[in-house]
Amino acid sequence: MPNSSRFTPVRASRPNVYTGSPLDRAAERRSDAAFIAAALASPDAVVAPVWRAQNLFQGEAARFFSTADALAWESDPQRWIFLGLWEERPVFALDLGHHETPHDLLPDDAGTFADIRQHGGILPAGEASVLAYARGLIHWQGRTRFCGVCGSPCVPASAGHVMHCTGCGTDHFPRSDPAVIMLVVRDDTILLGHATRFPEGMYSTLAGFVEPGESLEEAVRREVYEETGVQVGDVAYHSSQPWPFPSSLMLGFYGEGLTDAIEFRDAELADARWFTREMCRAPEAHGFRLPGPDSIARRLIEDWLAAG
Ligand SMILES: [Zn+2]
Repeated sequence: MPNSSRFTPVRASRPNVYTGSPLDRAAERRSDAAFIAAALASPDAVVAPVWRAQNLFQGEAARFFSTADALAWESDPQRWIFLGLWEERPVFALDLGHHETPHDLLPDDAGTFADIRQHGGILPAGEASVLAYARGLIHWQGRTRFCGVCGSPCVPASAGHVMHCTGCGTDHFPRSDPAVIMLVVRDDTILLGHATRFPEGMYSTLAGFVEPGESLEEAVRREVYEETGVQVGDVAYHSSQPWPFPSSLMLGFYGEGLTDAIEFRDAELADARWFTREMCRAPEAHGFRLPGPDSIARRLIEDWLAAG
């Protein structure tokens, strides 16, 4: 799109990792107990086990089991979540988090529980999306065991998509926390930061949670200013990415940098600098590295590089 200013929004080149779900979520069937029971009993049904925020992998592939096998490990229906239909096959998530040693339940060749982020960038898109979905829902259930209104215990309902309060009857629904993540562009440079929690040498886009009563554009400008003192003008949307690690929805933007001077205001940010295209095309030669290939941060940088 022609733009008279130097700030030119860049379109997303391809879908982000953890998007592109192959599932029909079939939300209208979740409260149909007969349908869910038939789905669980279906010989085509499969399940993705989750253990304490880790998914199951065999080599570099996601590991699914038939529900018939998995029901022998865990028959409590409250630990099963209906995720949807994958080409008519019912897909469930199963929470094994209450077992100290889940491998004792599983066959010897079951694979290994691991953080999906170790595999997310190379898994087939559909598998990465389904596993992230399973992990996110189970995390939310675990954080919703008690009602935020009255403090009574909650129990899963609607095939795991509602936590129902046994005291006041409130239904609690899954939450995603909106977070803005933005690549600030000024002339032909971009602003990247090194947070204290990052691996050594990694520089990434700035990011932060949206606060109550705040628009996304306002959150972009506020976060950048809070962390670096850089003022942002125009803000342009790029793409979004589910980031259930543990419960975020990342909303990716480009921001027009209006000022150069960097002033550290946030203790979480150890460093921030302006980087050129040349530096970003060969980060190792310039003594830094870019964020992981599964992240929208990396995609924002790569799409900016490709546009220049
Ligand atoms: Zn309650």
